[in-house]
Amino acid sequence: MSRLQWQRRRILIWGKTRPELSQTYREIVCTGGVFADTRRLVRLYPIPLRYLDDEKDFKKYQWIEAEVARNLSDPRPESHKVRFEGIKTGAFVPTKTGNWDARAEWIMGPDHVFSSVEALQDRQAQDSTSLGLVQPARVSDIRAVQVSKQEKLEFMKRYEEAVKQMELPLDPETGKEIKPLRAADFRFKIHFRCADPRCQRDHQFSVLDWEMDALYFKLRTQQERSPQLAAQGVVDKLRECCSPEKELSLFLGNIFTHPQKFTIVGLWYPKRRSQKPQLELPLE
Ligand SMILES: [Zn+2]
Repeated sequence: MSRLQWQRRRILIWGKTRPELSQTYREIVCTGGVFADTRRLVRLYPIPLRYLDDEKDFKKYQWIEAEVARNLSDPRPESHKVRFEGIKTGAFVPTKTGNWDARAEWIMGPDHVFSSVEALQDRQAQDSTSLGLVQPARVSDIRAVQVSKQEKLEFMKRYEEAVKQMELPLDPETGKEIKPLRAADFRFKIHFRCADPRCQRDHQFSVLDWEMDALYFKLRTQQERSPQLAAQGVVDKLRECCSPEKELSLFLGNIFTHPQKFTIVGLWYPKRRSQKPQLELPLE
């Protein structure tokens, strides 16, 4: 049996995905980052939600230091396990008046950026690459799709099964019952096309970025908006990220069981600096 090789490494976090159900930890989150030493993209998985719910929480674009090991039960080369009890948080990389350069130095590495979804899928077929950034040529639509009642019921059934399986129904540190996870009301989708002749029809990718779910929840609770109006708030935020003033790239990650199928696991949206080239004045 191969043994996990644990190493303490520094990682810049760029995203967290919507929590998923787990038999062992009830809810788990998948976190994306970049290694400081190799500058390769990394997926930290699983992290129980409760470790992201308190002061141990780390933000997007914050450095962390943690013991990690390549997850041998996941064929995706970026997937690593993490000893979440020992995560140390470090400096946050801010943006300076809309300038994302300090982040771009780590995120926009030549090995991370792909010219299209098709190019990323090619690489996936070659070497199992499962994370990458793609700059859409055109965003045609942004939608909130209601999750059906049936789907929600199935989610809650699986959730209850997961709770029954749990070794620790209470948080071992606080002794309190862990907040129950809610089934999502909406699925958010971005329809886009790549700059690739092979890209013949719009991709309709789901957004699994947890920040969008958090925004939805905030609009529902703090502003007491209806589900429809809260969903509209998320769509408005996504529209802002995808507007022509932003230099948009999508963080894409594939699905464990469907390696050629990618979803949006984060958004990269610094303000566009270069204006579209101005028409030159004719010489007199
Ligand atoms: Zn495409």
